[in-house]
Amino acid sequence: MSNNKYKILVVEDDRSIAGMIQTVLETGGYQVLVAGRCEQGVLMLRSHMPDLVVLDLGLPDMDGSEFIRIARRDRTVPIIVLSARMEEADKIAALDLGANDYITKPFSTGELLARIRASLRIVHGHQQTSGGTFTLGGLTIEHDRRQVRVDGEPVHLTRTEFNILAFLSRHPGKVMTYAAIVTAIWGGLDDGSVKKLQVNMANIRRKLGCAPGDDRYIVNELGVGYRMSDPQN
Ligand code: CA
Repeated sequence: MSNNKYKILVVEDDRSIAGMIQTVLETGGYQVLVAGRCEQGVLMLRSHMPDLVVLDLGLPDMDGSEFIRIARRDRTVPIIVLSARMEEADKIAALDLGANDYITKPFSTGELLARIRASLRIVHGHQQTSGGTFTLGGLTIEHDRRQVRVDGEPVHLTRTEFNILAFLSRHPGKVMTYAAIVTAIWGGLDDGSVKKLQVNMANIRRKLGCAPGDDRYIVNELGVGYRMSDPQN
């Protein structure tokens, strides 16, 4: 096994799921470590310094969110949460605690690999952003000049709309929660702010020429937040 492989720690108590993930990741060229309990996962995080963690939220000894809290005390390792839970509140809590992304079970192996590649790229700075310009299909965002084009045609956004789009484009492939976006744009969360964000987002999508459900550029993570599509997936 070569030494330059990315090392991924999988914290998952369900042996069949852990085994499936291990096989998929090893086939994908990653080195894999598996922990079946939260405490063991924390020890392995500290001793093996993985490049990324795939974390199940429902663990026998502690809740997976406890792992995120502990991990965030001393490391910025990307964490992708695996959740069987339907409750959006759990996903939002995990993201706001510092998880980078989440996948709801059952998931496809292709989806898992795509999310892992995206998270590793974000951390290692291999984003398709050169000279302050973000490009995704026909969409071009020039951060410095605050200009947006679709298929070469200028798109006229309000200041707030531009700020939201620019913010998302700085985190391609990563789900940004409503709270994270609202805080970044308006500085704080109040009663009407999520609604205000949704109204702005509807306008942005319309101006970019996206009909409802068209996630070419921006994916609507219902009840959770928004994700800029990743240029490299
Ligand atoms: Ca579990």
